[in-house]
Amino acid sequence: MRQRNTVLVVNPATEEPIADLEQAGVEETDAAVARAREAFAAWRRVAPTDRAQLLRRLATLVEENGEELARIESQNVGKPIAGARGEVGMVAQVFHFYAGAVDKHYGETIPVAGGVDMTFREPLGVVGLIVPWNFPINIASWKLGPALACGNTVVLKPAELTPLSALRLAELVLDAGIPEGVVNVLVGPGRIVGQRLVEHPDVAKIGFTGSTEVGRTVMQGAAGTIKRVTLELGGKSANVVFADADLERAAAAAPYAVFDNAGQDCCARSRILVERSAYDRFVGLLVDATRGVKVGDPTEEATEMGPLISAQHRETVASFVDGEPLFRGDAPNGRGFWYPCTLVEATNEDRVAREEVFGPVAAVIPFADEADAIRIANDTPYGLSGSIWTENGARALRVARALETGVLSINSNSSVRPSTPFGGSKQSGFGRELGMHALEGYSEVKNVYLATD
Ligand code: NDP
Repeated sequence: MRQRNTVLVVNPATEEPIADLEQAGVEETDAAVARAREAFAAWRRVAPTDRAQLLRRLATLVEENGEELARIESQNVGKPIAGARGEVGMVAQVFHFYAGAVDKHYGETIPVAGGVDMTFREPLGVVGLIVPWNFPINIASWKLGPALACGNTVVLKPAELTPLSALRLAELVLDAGIPEGVVNVLVGPGRIVGQRLVEHPDVAKIGFTGSTEVGRTVMQGAAGTIKRVTLELGGKSANVVFADADLERAAAAAPYAVFDNAGQDCCARSRILVERSAYDRFVGLLVDATRGVKVGDPTEEATEMGPLISAQHRETVASFVDGEPLFRGDAPNGRGFWYPCTLVEATNEDRVAREEVFGPVAAVIPFADEADAIRIANDTPYGLSGSIWTENGARALRVARALETGVLSINSNSSVRPSTPFGGSKQSGFGRELGMHALEGYSEVKNVYLATD
């Protein structure tokens, strides 16, 4: 008989166990893929208006159960409750968006000689969705929405550290009336369950969000079956502040662009590039703003930053800070994987500026002029997100066009909206999530020619 393995889920703010779950392995993965495969034939035939109606019901159920989902996410990830509520709100918006997208994603007719040429958007089949621990339910919805809207069935693998919101979401999927087998959730380690999904011959596509390192493994594994992949990977984004910017606004916003979610955010603007002529003034404002970030108990309404995900991750984050930083904030002592907001002065060659810290550590880097800012911002293997702060509109657009990155904000640090495409360039991955663009990654174009002459 196979030994029963379990997954102990811990609250990172208290280090207390909050769940003990059965761990899936290869056998359970194969069974989930078989269930999804079985469900595919009927799901793809569901009339578009009915499929839209089911997704709309799911969105409504997420809204109705929003407080419970937010508490689950806050406890499991250590997220401040106010932020977790916002994230769950976005999940509902994402399902509403894709409910509306079902019947707006269609083919075309192409003028040809001797007949009619038409294209169809076909679902792929069973898709494997592999998501990380930093925004578990949010990132799951970004993949589930378009996958289901296109008529695919799915096997979703949350990170082992944070499986609880995905399990609750799977219950809501059934409550919404989406048939059994269309959405399957597996709790198990990436190197076993994730890898099996990647290699499984009956899985048509992998939608992956995670580190660049594991993304590389996914791409290699997918080659065996010529599987489609969408990769949303790491980042080292630049927040570029020109001297002609509204410095007060830019400095007030900058801490939240890197310390939000305790810096465990692929979009974190963890390189703050500041024009030298405004450097001293901006750094003074930045330190003041960072001092104001409220770090502490995630259950408190006013808390803005919670702990890191694990003790091991805290060690990794700490390894990026040598000597005395420019600024180090306060964090609770006691139990929990706490790490304070930290600002360090750096050059773009330093390790803290080259590697993804994935914690509340920002590198502040001066630049000489526009050309220097573009050079430094692009001098990274990553290209996910970023911001440009300037009152000069032409410069804003010039720099936006020159930066090698998938998502940018001007005089703002926001990166994601349900209706706009999100994704990376360079080693931050490829493919787009959210908006109508995501539907491209969960469907195939079929071309049909009908001879009429
Ligand atoms: P990992 O890459 O370690 O894990 C991501 C997911 O992949 C987890 O579910 C993990 O499972 C699974 N996994 C691990 N090994 C394999 C494997 N060999 N085959 C298949 N699946 C595997 O990332 P983290 O969870 O540590 O998340 C942090 C990373 O995610 C950061 O680098 C961050 O930048 C990136 N990220 C990117 C985003 C984007 O949109 N670009 C958004 C959010 C995060 P398990 O953990 O259970 O073993």
